[in-house]
Amino acid sequence: MSDLRDLYQEVILDHSKQPRQFRALDDADVSADGFNPLCGDKLTVFLRNAGDRVDEATFQGSGCAISMASASMMAEAVRGATVAEIEALSQTFLDLVTGKIDFDAAAPRLGKLAVFGGVSKFPVRVKCATLAWHTLRAALDRRDTPVSTE
Ligand code: ZN
Repeated sequence: MSDLRDLYQEVILDHSKQPRQFRALDDADVSADGFNPLCGDKLTVFLRNAGDRVDEATFQGSGCAISMASASMMAEAVRGATVAEIEALSQTFLDLVTGKIDFDAAAPRLGKLAVFGGVSKFPVRVKCATLAWHTLRAALDRRDTPVSTE
């Protein structure tokens, strides 16, 4: 298990150092801002929609390794997914990082995103991990006011 844990940390480190999808999206249909005042994490999520499907998802921002890695992996995970699929993914992710379900229950549904399971042991970090998903939700809902985790 400790080998696995190291691997997970590597995935998070890799995404935080080299975030994927890290750019503004010029032809975005929607965008939303999110802020985690507790840690200082700030994100803007950009989406291009086609009907009920997200064609492209990108983000920009700054923050801790967990928040950047989470946004990077979120953006990769939701590209090409339907809104219904994204909602299911988002709910499973939130359940995992808040400890409502464990890694084994989440892994088959979340794939790589399950690396964030360890966050559930660090309540302060939960908001870092979920900021990208709350901001994504706000973009899908076309909310005008920025999301705050507080
Ligand atoms: Zn953070």
